[in-house]
Amino acid sequence: MSSVLEVFNLKKYYLVRTGLFGRSAQVHAVDDVSFRVEAGETLSIVGESGCGKSTVGRTILRLVEPTAGEIYLDGWRVDTVPIQGMRRLRKKLQVVYQDPFSSLNPRLSVRDIVAEPLENFGMGQSRSEIDDQVADLLDKVRLPRDAMKRLSHEFSGGQRQRIGIARALAPKPDIIICDEAVSALDVSVKAQIVNLFTDLQQELGLALLFISHDLAIVEHLTHRVAVMYLGQIIEIGDRRTMFSAPKHPYTQALLSSIPIADPKAKRNRLVLNGEVPSPINPPSGCRFRTRCPQAFDRCAVEMPKLAQLRVDGHQVACHLHEGQSD
Ligand code: SF4
Repeated sequence: MSSVLEVFNLKKYYLVRTGLFGRSAQVHAVDDVSFRVEAGETLSIVGESGCGKSTVGRTILRLVEPTAGEIYLDGWRVDTVPIQGMRRLRKKLQVVYQDPFSSLNPRLSVRDIVAEPLENFGMGQSRSEIDDQVADLLDKVRLPRDAMKRLSHEFSGGQRQRIGIARALAPKPDIIICDEAVSALDVSVKAQIVNLFTDLQQELGLALLFISHDLAIVEHLTHRVAVMYLGQIIEIGDRRTMFSAPKHPYTQALLSSIPIADPKAKRNRLVLNGEVPSPINPPSGCRFRTRCPQAFDRCAVEMPKLAQLRVDGHQVACHLHEGQSD
């Protein structure tokens, strides 16, 4: 398998005013994050609000500039390319946002919304050729072809998200970043859109970077999962291992809060104490130590490295698991 997206040591720091005598402080929104997404693969980045997962997506899209690190799309460097050069890369890299109500222009017809990237990237010789492609894209996202003539505001949230997905598919990208793409939808609609992503991926061989706060949702569509806490990836591995044998105490707590469908099955809920600390002044050593039920002295003085376990590709950043690395 070849990598579509590679991210090395990505950092994004912001300066914010603290309000005290005009002083400013640095927010470590993303702090030394590395991962890759293979062709045809879904990698999910999960974590609580404010953990930096959406900033990772926005940095890859160059909506915010990284402080440090390297990003490659199909081997092409993304983070240093001039903004004009991003146009060519954006054909390969598309995005579906959380809110289908604000991400689609309500004054445009569905035809014009989906046709826009086709026209921008010169992917049709004539209007009728573009119309045919739009009709095919609506088929792919399971919307009727006569939707073309209507305005986006006439559709429900789930239907609008399908329109957004059709637009993202239009330039035949290699990877789509889905930033909380199902979070704003009702439960039953969520499941339909997750199924649609799964079908599209199998049909088109797409890679997906699925950014979500909801571990339960990603279980149904992802191949691998990266868990973020306070700007860092603290565990990454394949779906089966992550959901059946998570190693990091934070991943274990997140998973323990997912309801189980089987009423006879039991899962011990691990409740985390306290709030996520401020990324302006993260805890010393392990950033999770202020909430970790297993923290010990060393955790306060030494930051654990993301280390490979014996299970293929599974990495965890926790002192408890250091002896298990290869
Ligand atoms: Fe908990 Fe220490 Fe492991 Fe961090 S390094 S997760 S504080 S045991």
